[in-house]
Amino acid sequence: MTRRVVLIGGGAAGMGAAGGVKAVDPASEVVVYTGFDDVAYSPCGIPYVHGKEIDSFERLFLASKQAYVDAGIDVHYNANVTGIDVARKVVEVDGEGEVGWDSLVVATGFDYADPGVPGGELEGLYYVKNIREAIEWDKVLDTVKSAVVVEASPLGVEMVTALAHRGIETHLIDPSPWPMSEIADPDIMAPVEDSWNELGVTTHFNTTLKAFLGDGHVRAVQTSDAEITADLVVVCTHKEPNTTLGVAAGLKVGSTGGFVVDERMATSVPGVFAAGDCTEVPHGLTGVPLQGLTGSHAYAQGKTAGINAAGGSRTYSAVYVPWGTAAGKWIIGGASFGETTATALGIPYVVGNAQGISRARYYPGVKPVKVKLLAEPGSLRLLGAQMVGGEGIKERADFLAVAVKFGLTLYDLARMENVYSPAIGALNEPIVVAAQNGIDTAQKR
Ligand SMILES: Cc1cc2nc3c(=O)[nH]c(=O)nc-3n(C[C@H](O)[C@H](O)[C@H](O)COP(=O)(O)OP(=O)(O)OC[C@H]3O[C@@H](n4cnc5c(N)ncnc54)[C@H](O)[C@@H]3O)c2cc1C
Repeated sequence: MTRRVVLIGGGAAGMGAAGGVKAVDPASEVVVYTGFDDVAYSPCGIPYVHGKEIDSFERLFLASKQAYVDAGIDVHYNANVTGIDVARKVVEVDGEGEVGWDSLVVATGFDYADPGVPGGELEGLYYVKNIREAIEWDKVLDTVKSAVVVEASPLGVEMVTALAHRGIETHLIDPSPWPMSEIADPDIMAPVEDSWNELGVTTHFNTTLKAFLGDGHVRAVQTSDAEITADLVVVCTHKEPNTTLGVAAGLKVGSTGGFVVDERMATSVPGVFAAGDCTEVPHGLTGVPLQGLTGSHAYAQGKTAGINAAGGSRTYSAVYVPWGTAAGKWIIGGASFGETTATALGIPYVVGNAQGISRARYYPGVKPVKVKLLAEPGSLRLLGAQMVGGEGIKERADFLAVAVKFGLTLYDLARMENVYSPAIGALNEPIVVAAQNGIDTAQKR
């Protein structure tokens, strides 16, 4: 009998799951429900179209709707699932009624946290997610003179940079002392703040949003310090797991509010899997549950869920979280955690810092690269890394996440081999220098 796998969600996790199902059981019936008009596009590119680094939204569409038809993946667009009955193995779909499943993957993603202040109903509040809406908002940006970005989350950091590149007078408000304070350390973000200032951005840290002000359309935001005039407000509050449907069906959630899953991405309900931003997964070193990671995590989790939902076997490991993004004129990134998180969790560490360069110092385009490594006192096992620089941050973040995962120490990193070629790498690799400096610091203690 043909297996029917139903997937709720057409984001990175849902579409990863669809591919996973088909890879294991090509004959299976795969039905995807999404609340949006599209599935095969990159939301990650939206800030860069707004900032004019990418010239068209068309470039963000990655596959045609026909490509999914050809692959045997039956995508139902603008199709909201309103209920899951796990006992009868059916979902209730708006306009379609009940649809049965043999396996179910819940990949309902994230919502931006509700700012929870008066004025949330005003026009002119932009929540960046759906590409069709982004295309319309991009036209609005042509008419906007001043904008406020609410919260320096990773998306907030990208949107501040985008609006500044667009020539819009941009204010950023955030209740923390520095941007992306839940992830990045202040020394990593300081050059980013300086470059925003050069771009004309006004930053308001330690500042709380009190209200959106206006009559029908937003005209200002009220903060704990002042009223800031704005034609547009981009709400970039932190991501919260969208779990309403699953919770109503009895799926267990954990301390972050995300669905609890095992290493097969199976939920607490037999036959029901979950993946992406609606789940939580453990950090590889601390075991602390993490939620709302990246699109690449969501895709890999979806693939795992899909493979298992189709009767295959794949496990998803705990995460060591390589991350990175463009921010102002810099690239920031890291792996695992930095000093702020280590301190908050009471994890002791020693630090090795290095200020290096990305290419030979005489080669045109050479950029600075700052590397900070955290290691366990005594063993000097790598715990995490944070970086800021002009290029080469992503590759180092990916490598350092693997280094944390496999227990490399500062001694290993201080003796690692590295590529030296004037156009692409300096003789002294900043990771090696940071590791040696960390060893020296540890030995002086
Ligand atoms: C503007 C933007 C920039 C980003 N930049 C990056 C980046 O640079 N790098 C990176 O790795 N990631 C990036 N991301 C990815 C992001 O942060 C998430 O990690 C990713 O979108 C999670 O994918 P997901 O499939 O779990 O959920 P989502 O993308 O949130 O998708 C959820 C899906 O579920 C559907 N859904 C929800 N409820 C229902 C329902 N009841 N019925 C039917 N369908 C439903 C929605 O319609 C949607 O299709 C970006 C995202 C955005 C929006």
